[in-house]
Amino acid sequence: MRAMVFDGSTPVLQDLQVPDPQPGAGQLLIDIHACGVCRTDLHVIDGELAHPKRALIPGHEIVGIVAALGTGITGFAVGDRVGVPWTGHTCGQCRYCQSGRENLCDAPGFTGYTLDGGYAERTVADSRYCFHLPQRYSDVEAAPLLCAGLIGYRTLAMAGDAQRIGIYGFGAAAHIVAQVARHQGRDVYAFTRPGATASQQFARQLGARWAGGSDENPPAALDAALIFAPAGSLIPAALRAVAKGGIVVCGGIHMSDIPSFPYSLLWEERRVVSVANLTRADGQAFMKLAEATPLQITTSPYPLAEANRALNDLRNGALVGAAVLTMR
Ligand SMILES: [Zn+2]
Ligand SMILES: [Zn+2]
Repeated sequence: MRAMVFDGSTPVLQDLQVPDPQPGAGQLLIDIHACGVCRTDLHVIDGELAHPKRALIPGHEIVGIVAALGTGITGFAVGDRVGVPWTGHTCGQCRYCQSGRENLCDAPGFTGYTLDGGYAERTVADSRYCFHLPQRYSDVEAAPLLCAGLIGYRTLAMAGDAQRIGIYGFGAAAHIVAQVARHQGRDVYAFTRPGATASQQFARQLGARWAGGSDENPPAALDAALIFAPAGSLIPAALRAVAKGGIVVCGGIHMSDIPSFPYSLLWEERRVVSVANLTRADGQAFMKLAEATPLQITTSPYPLAEANRALNDLRNGALVGAAVLTMR
């Protein structure tokens, strides 16, 4: 099969023919139709995350059709459409797994990071971590639901019942989260790179009450700020924008260092927290929400062989919505 492979030596993927994977016990063999391109993939190939599998097929927003079943599978059949997310395995034994926090598992497997992912024509995945997908979305539209949507949803959930939600970095995750937040009756304030007027316009189209640069003050103090851009300097900026008792939630896996800031920004019970990975319960809850709520998923599709171009466009902020690789 064709696969775009990260060999660990350079931040460019190699277009290779590799053997088809074979499904082991509990695994689905999946013919991939689409795979989203996430900022985490950039962090992996740019060497910002420790110990990726080598060689690695990146990609953790996989949509495909079940082509064959390993032994012991329940809940999936050949021909089913299926989604494969970032959390590809958990141990089930550690104190995190045993307390409903499998996203923090001590011995996890992550799709497209420590396990091969979806920048390929086929993959295998542990069926227990796969999802059925809402029918209202095409394969390309469904792909970004699997991380941008899901992790975005977990990030928003951390904000509790905050009414005024600021979103920093208006990319794939933000464009979905903004719609969910609007649907829940919250007010959305979108922060983009200074001068990124196309992104600001896009945010307003999706229902943002206000959109501006991350160096600007919103017209009202925020109850929560969600940060999806990987710039640590946004943490003190967001703390300045949240009201007393407000929360700053960091939705990404990696950020540049956070500059020091005066304690007065944190004082008055403001909080800064991060979101790590997802649980299967998050996935089920979000897919149910995405089924019931018509989300407008904006994508930029690229053929699989052009994965490097998609990654560069994401790196350069030259995208509106989510980049998605297509295999057919
Ligand atoms: Zn992701
Ligand atoms: Zn565990």
